[in-house]
Amino acid sequence: MSDSNQGEDVGNALQLDNEKQLLKHYYAGQQMESPNGGFLIRLGIRPQDSGKAIAIFECNVSWIRYEITIPKATRTERKKVKDALTAGQDPVCPRHGSFARLVRAGKDLVCSDCGVAYGKV
Ligand SMILES: [Zn+2]
Repeated sequence: MSDSNQGEDVGNALQLDNEKQLLKHYYAGQQMESPNGGFLIRLGIRPQDSGKAIAIFECNVSWIRYEITIPKATRTERKKVKDALTAGQDPVCPRHGSFARLVRAGKDLVCSDCGVAYGKV
């Protein structure tokens, strides 16, 4: 298939062609339908150096594994988090909403469901 020049090993996970649509469901906390019937169960999130993250899912019917790239934080999302911090609020994930508080990972503020850093502390 495609050659990975990042040296990232995601095993033999396949890619989905409706990533964007699935991510919408993911951010909304909804179940994600697998292309094989059944649903995609999250196995893990792998943050990448570039700021994005790779989420690994497994279909609960076929046991086929898929990877979905979660895009890195946009300027707007970072600003949202910064504004919340400045206002003395607990910053939440701009994508997951108020039920996903950002957690500290080193100097970064990270959503544990996205694996993406949205701000700095
Ligand atoms: Zn999130």
